[in-house]
Amino acid sequence: MLENTIKNSDTIANLTKKKPLIIAGPCSAETREQVLETAGLLSRTGKVDLFRAGIWKPRTRPGNFEGVGETALEWLQEVKNTYQLPVIIEVANSRQALLALEYGIDAVWIGARTTVNPFSVQEIADALQGADIPVYIKNPVNPDIELWTGAVERIQQAGIRDIGLIHRGFSSYGNARLRNVPMWHLAIEIRRRFPDLPVIIDPSHITGNRTLIPEILQKAIDLDYDGAIIEAHCSPATAWSDAAQQVTPGELLDIINTIIWRKDQVQEEKIIEQLEQLRGQIDQYDRQLLELISNRMQISREIGRVKKAHNVTILQTRRWQYIYDRVKLLGQQLGLSDEFINHYMEAIHLESIRNQDIIMNPKDDFSI
Ligand code: PEP
Ligand code: MN
Repeated sequence: MLENTIKNSDTIANLTKKKPLIIAGPCSAETREQVLETAGLLSRTGKVDLFRAGIWKPRTRPGNFEGVGETALEWLQEVKNTYQLPVIIEVANSRQALLALEYGIDAVWIGARTTVNPFSVQEIADALQGADIPVYIKNPVNPDIELWTGAVERIQQAGIRDIGLIHRGFSSYGNARLRNVPMWHLAIEIRRRFPDLPVIIDPSHITGNRTLIPEILQKAIDLDYDGAIIEAHCSPATAWSDAAQQVTPGELLDIINTIIWRKDQVQEEKIIEQLEQLRGQIDQYDRQLLELISNRMQISREIGRVKKAHNVTILQTRRWQYIYDRVKLLGQQLGLSDEFINHYMEAIHLESIRNQDIIMNPKDDFSI
C-alpha cells in the first residue's frame, strides 16, 4: 500500500459541503498517462474539487472495457500527490470498498446498477462501517424511490456521516433524446425525504451526449442542486467508454463559466417583500383549491348515495370520458399543460371513485 500524503478527513468533509461542488474526470481510468494528463488539465481550470475515474466499470453487456482494476488506484494516488486533487471512485462490492479505504481514496460513489441491489449496498455498508469517508449514492437505474431511500438508510446505519446523492436519471426503453430520463419529480421527492443531504447532478449520464450537458446542468442549478459530476477526458473521441458524453477539460471550463449559478436566497429587502407577497397569494389559492375539491367530493358522495339506492355502477366509462375531454379542453384554453391535466384528472377521478366506494361498500377492508 502506498503512503497517502494528503488525506485529511476534516478537509474532505468541508469540501463535500462546498456549493457548487464540481466533480470531474474520465468515465474510466484507462492508462496512467490518460489519468495524469486529464487530472493535470482539470486541476489547471481551478474549478474542479474532486477528480473522478471509474476503476471497475459495471457494463450492461459483457465484452466491453471493464476497467483497469486495482492498478489504477496507484495512478489516483499520483493524482492526489501531484495535483493536490482529492479523488473519488465507484465501488460496487465489499472488496472494492476495502481497496478504496486501503489506497486512501478520498470519497466513493455507489453506481446506479448497485443501488438497485440491497445485498450489494449492504455489503458496501458493512465494509465501510464507521469509516470516515464521504459516500455518494446514485439513483437506481429504475425509477424506484424506495430503493434509493433504502440505500441511503443502509449507508447511514453504517455510521457514515458524509453522504450525498447523485441524480443520474432513469433507464427507459426505446429511442429517447436522453440516455437516461431525469424524472425530476423523483429527485425532488428524495430531497424532501433527506433535506440535509447535498444532491448533485450527473448530466453526462442523463444526456449521453456532450452537446446536451449545459441544458441539463442549467436546469439542475435552477432547481438548487448542490453541484455536478461531469465526465471529462483529455481526448474524449478516443475514450474507451462513454466517448459521446465526455468533454475536454477546456470544454468543461466553458460550461462552468457559462452556466448561470443561481442563489437559493435573496438578500435585497424589496425582492424579499415582493416574493412574500406573491407567496401569500399562492397559499391563499392552495386553500381555496382544497376547499373546492372538498366540495366536489361531497357531491361525489351524494352521487354515490343515489347510485347505491338504484343499484348503478360506480364507474361509468362514458361519463368519465366526457368529463376528461371537457376538462382537457378547458385546461388548454386556460394555458395548462395536457400532462398536468392528466395527472390532475386521474387524481380527482380516483378520489371520487374512492369516496363512492366507501358509500357503496362501507364495511369492506379494501379501498380502491
Ligand atoms: C459512471 O459514473 O461512470 C457510471 C457507470 O454511472 P452510472 O452508475 O450512473 O451508470
Ligand atoms: Mn460513464
